[in-house]
Amino acid sequence: MSGLSARAVTSDADDPLAGKRSAFVLDDVVYLDGNSLGALPAGVPGRVEDVVRRQWGELRIRSWEESGWWTAPERIGDRIAPLVGAAPGQIVVGDSTSVNVFKALVAAVRIAGDGRDEILVDATTFPTDGYIAESAARMTGCSLRAVTPAEVPGALSGRTAAVLLNHVDYRTGRLYDLPGLTATVRAAGAVAVWDLCHSAGALPVGLDEHGVDLAVGCTYKYLNGGPGSPAYLYVRAGLQDRFDSPLPGWNSHVEPFGMRGAYEPASGALRGRVGTPDILSMLALEAALEVWDGVSIEAVREKSLALTDFFLECVAEYVPRGRVESVTPVAHEERGSQVALRCPDAGDVMKRLIERGVVGDFRAPDVLRFGFTPLYVGFVDVERAARVLAEELR
Ligand SMILES: *Cc1c(COP(=O)(O)O)cnc(C)c1O
Repeated sequence: MSGLSARAVTSDADDPLAGKRSAFVLDDVVYLDGNSLGALPAGVPGRVEDVVRRQWGELRIRSWEESGWWTAPERIGDRIAPLVGAAPGQIVVGDSTSVNVFKALVAAVRIAGDGRDEILVDATTFPTDGYIAESAARMTGCSLRAVTPAEVPGALSGRTAAVLLNHVDYRTGRLYDLPGLTATVRAAGAVAVWDLCHSAGALPVGLDEHGVDLAVGCTYKYLNGGPGSPAYLYVRAGLQDRFDSPLPGWNSHVEPFGMRGAYEPASGALRGRVGTPDILSMLALEAALEVWDGVSIEAVREKSLALTDFFLECVAEYVPRGRVESVTPVAHEERGSQVALRCPDAGDVMKRLIERGVVGDFRAPDVLRFGFTPLYVGFVDVERAARVLAEELR
């Protein structure tokens, strides 16, 4: 056994989160794609079966009340809240991240008020955010400027209405300074919207602590909600009365069953709702979130950094020098929960890795992405992934 594989065994034995792996349905594949689609929590199939057969099949319409379907968006929002550092009553679950980016960004421009007619968007953003920002800008009469997060402080002006930022870059795994950027945007009188897709469930976000106004995120990556599980929208309590949704559906009406002609928004987080929630996906997500019972996000972060450190160390030891280049920051305060390695033949390399039971993904044009989900990835997995990678790169 090499020194690194011996250390992996010891690290797994000392890992306080190691027992969580059995809460997931897994095989002997090294699954490093939980930053794209989280693994299946073992409690989900039984719950979905119950929701379909009993709640829908037997109780039918009664389930809106008796099975808690109607209030699920707020209830599940409150279950996500501690994972992102939010007090209850500020998160609502529903729709996709793309749709929630739209709601949040247009609402941000409306909150910022007259005279502010520019939106800044992260130039390196996940594409959907950029597309939505372009449309939101056109609809609100704003101009749109793409800047890197580092350029945001210098780009802010009295014209800036809203700034749309990613907490962790989906391609490089770079973690941005949410507290610092939020404070800077606020000081300029603008409203920041944070996309937490690659940070929620992987590291502490501290939404309340850092005074974040608006945030969105998906639930099928580190939160393991399943393919297409609904996203969430955070609106800071102090801002909820000013949240003017561009999609004011009947579910966010103060009296949804009053069937009134005129729209009057409800108060609180449910103001972010639109139409009838996708109950099957939503309740699968609720079951999936039970794996977080008793887990501290600080412990998750500690293990995540240890896993990515160890992977980088194994890669440096095993892979011929110069064959790959890491584009993930070395500094912990700038690293999310993934490692991205650049190599010219990344697409082919990833195909071969997947054939050999090491599943990451490929992002065009030349990036190998490996996501580390501390609830079910261990150090032995990490060492094996690096070893197989090195064999394929030789
Ligand atoms: C995954 C991801 C999305 C996905 O948006 P959907 O509407 O769920 O398809 C959006 N933004 C970021 C930053 C992401 O990483």
